[in-house]
Amino acid sequence: NRQITLASRPVGAPTAANFALQETAIPEPAQGQLLLRTVFLSLDPYMRGRMSDAKSYAEPVAIGETMVGGTVSRVHASQHPDYQVGDWVLSYSGWQDYSLSDGTGLIKLDPKLVPPSYALGVLGMPGFTAYMGLLDIGKPQTGETIVVAAATGAVGSMVAQIGKLKGCNVVAVAGGEEKCRYALETLGVNTCLDHKADDFADQLAKACPNGIDIYYENVGGKVLDAVLPLLNTGARIPVCGLISQYNATALPNGPDRLGQLMGTILIKRLTVKGFIIFDDYAHRYDEFAQDMRQWLSDGKIHYREQIVEELDNAPQAFIGLLQGQNFGKLVVRVGDD
Ligand code: NDP
Repeated sequence: NRQITLASRPVGAPTAANFALQETAIPEPAQGQLLLRTVFLSLDPYMRGRMSDAKSYAEPVAIGETMVGGTVSRVHASQHPDYQVGDWVLSYSGWQDYSLSDGTGLIKLDPKLVPPSYALGVLGMPGFTAYMGLLDIGKPQTGETIVVAAATGAVGSMVAQIGKLKGCNVVAVAGGEEKCRYALETLGVNTCLDHKADDFADQLAKACPNGIDIYYENVGGKVLDAVLPLLNTGARIPVCGLISQYNATALPNGPDRLGQLMGTILIKRLTVKGFIIFDDYAHRYDEFAQDMRQWLSDGKIHYREQIVEELDNAPQAFIGLLQGQNFGKLVVRVGDD
């Protein structure tokens, strides 16, 4: 049983040395338990937070423990009356080949409906995050302008497409030409800008002649700086993530702009609201799943996965996720289905 553990806490960007690969015996399920074989492991930005012991909304992973993570797994052996060998489940088994479960928290998946890995993305945590943040906090109205960065990623690609379904003008922000082409041609956004361009702030101002009504915050940093002066009165900012800051070890250089930010919130009467998807919205999952399944079957939503082969490659893929190297929802294929 291969397991990837947290070897040390990163300072700044994680490196391969922060992870260790260990081999343990495959555990045996006792009465009432089942043995799960991980088929797909989801890699997500929040895992950077779990590697750190700074205070957060969830406990950190302890040094020497297996890294946590959502998985799509198959029942390999069962001593549990509700599960049979071969069943597909959504689980939270972490970065390992096999894990034991007593059934708590597992969700059965039907592989005939959609590919099982979709439970980690479009029909799972990231899709749900996009849906609730945009619709419940962003409250998009026809004709409004939405700006969303990391726009080809797991969350952003769904925000962009749901925004279009709601009749908005969607200005996407992504890293590089290839991602921008995909946002325009496949996701159907109105404009896509590369945040690495030197004149990004000018480009954003030109792309938003009527100002910005919703800024779906995924990244913080330079994108937020460029967005702030363009916000309309009454604009909404669902604060979903701040990925550009996750590896930061110090405050940025330059003048303190907190007063300016608070001034903008006051004068523009902004709604700025953070949320943690399952803590705040677990009770609304069914509503999301119903809409998203419908949109998928109607061909209204496109979903792109980047599947990395082999558990051993998970650390490098995760390091790359924090640097924009993924293109689509990042998933590791750990075992054969
Ligand atoms: P993505 O699949 O979008 O992958 C991360 C992307 O972030 C990269 O591909 C890159 O895209 C972009 N990025 C990375 N570093 C930077 C940087 N320094 N500046 C600007 N962009 C950067 O990830 P997810 O869709 O899974 O997550 C998106 C955001 O949503 C994250 O902030 C995450 O923490 C948050 N989140 C929050 C949840 C909640 O409950 N609040 C739940 C799930 C996710 P590009 O190359 O296009 O710049």
